[in-house]
Amino acid sequence: MLDVRKIREDFPVLSKKVYDGRPLIWLDSAATSQKPRQVIQALVDYYEGYNANVHRGVHALSMESTERYDEARAKVAAFINADSPETVLWTRNTTESINLVANSWGEDNIKAGDDIVVTALEHHSNLVPWQQLARKKDANLHILPITEEHTLDMDAVDNILSPHTRLLAMAHESNAVGTIVPVKELAKKARAVGAAVLVDGAQSVPHMPVDVQDMDCDFLAFSGHKMLGPTGIGGLYVKREVLERMSPFLTGGDMVLAVSYEDASWNELPMRFEAGTPNISGVVGLGAAVDYLQNLGMENIREHEIQLTKYALDSFKQFEEELDVYGPKDPNKRGAIVSFHHPDVHPHDLGTLLDRRGIAIRTGHHCSMPMVRSLGVPATARASMYLYNTEEEVDELVDALREALRYFGNGAG
Ligand code: PMP
Repeated sequence: MLDVRKIREDFPVLSKKVYDGRPLIWLDSAATSQKPRQVIQALVDYYEGYNANVHRGVHALSMESTERYDEARAKVAAFINADSPETVLWTRNTTESINLVANSWGEDNIKAGDDIVVTALEHHSNLVPWQQLARKKDANLHILPITEEHTLDMDAVDNILSPHTRLLAMAHESNAVGTIVPVKELAKKARAVGAAVLVDGAQSVPHMPVDVQDMDCDFLAFSGHKMLGPTGIGGLYVKREVLERMSPFLTGGDMVLAVSYEDASWNELPMRFEAGTPNISGVVGLGAAVDYLQNLGMENIREHEIQLTKYALDSFKQFEEELDVYGPKDPNKRGAIVSFHHPDVHPHDLGTLLDRRGIAIRTGHHCSMPMVRSLGVPATARASMYLYNTEEEVDELVDALREALRYFGNGAG
C-alpha cells in the first residue's frame, strides 16, 4: 500500500490554498499530473550544475549532461520493459509520438485501399493523424465500437479486423471515461491478420505496469507530464525491427552522420529520429519521475487507484437519480477517472462551483469529441485521481457536488 500522507509531502503544490484559504484538491491528473520535489530538483540541478548541449562537446559539462540524458533513456526503457534504450525516442508528448508514426511509418506503409483501425474511445491525438493519413493515402479508417458500459465491443473486433488491416491504433485507457482496453488481447488479434499495433499509453503508462514486450505492440506513445515529469517531453517506443526500417520524421542537426551540399546520411538509432537540440532538462526530469514511480512500485500505484476508484464509484451511488456516471462499473476494468453528467446542469457550471471550493476537475469534451458526443452529451465533468489523492478528497468532492446540485435544484442555475 502507498503511504499517501508521506507522498503528499513531496508535492509542494498540494499544500497550496486557493480562494479563501481552501486546500487545493487536484482531481485533474488526467490532464496533467503534479510534480514531486525530486523532479523539480532534478531540473534545478541540471540548470545550476551541468547545463550543456548533449552529444556535441568534449568538455566536462557536455559529457555530464550527455551521461544523465542517456541514463534517463535507459530508465524509461526499463520502465516499459523495452529491450534496449535505443528503441525509445524522445518527443514532446503523446501527440507528437503518434504524429511521428503516422508521418514516418504510415507514410511508408499505408497505401490505397488499406485499413487503419482505431477504437471509438480515442483522444483526438490518436484519431486525427489517422484521418489525415487515410485521406492522403486513400486508405480506410474503421472504428471499433463500444458497448453500453463504454468497454470495447469485442464481438465486433473480428468483423472489423481483416487481412486489409495494416494498423490497429488504440488507447490503453480512455481519458474521457476511464475504460481500460484489453490491448494485449487486441494486439494478438491484430497480429493474426498481419497488422501493426500502436498503443496510446498517455493514460496507462503513468498509472499501471506497462510492458511493451508482453503487450507485443510495435509502438507505444506516452507523455512525461502525465507521469510526474515536466511538460514538453514525451516518448515513443518502437519495436527494433520496425524502427530500423523507418524513415526519419524531422531532419537537420544531430540526426545525420555525414552531410554534403547534395546529400546526407542518417545517424544511428535513436538519434536518427531526434533532430535538433532536445529537451535535455525535460529528459532528466522524466528520468527522476520514473525513479520516483519505480520507488513506489507501479503495482502499488495501480492498487491504490483501484481502491480509490471503488470508493469514488460507491460514493457516487447516492447521485444515482441525478447523475449519469460513465465507464465500466468494475474498478478493475477502469482507471482512476470518474466522468459524469447531470441532464440539467452544464458541466462547466458544476466545475465552476467545485472550483470555488478548491476542487479542480476538468469539464468539456476532453479532446475526445466523438466519444463524448456518443454519450449523447456535449461535455462531461471529469474527476481524475492519482497516487497523491485520498478518500477524504473524494468525500470533499461528493460533498461539494451535493451542495452544487442542491443549488442548481433550487432554480439558482
Ligand atoms: N491520448 C490520451 C489517451 C490522452 O489522455 C492524452 C492527453 N489528454 C493524449 C493522448 C495527448 O497527450 P499530450 O497532450 O500530452 O500529447
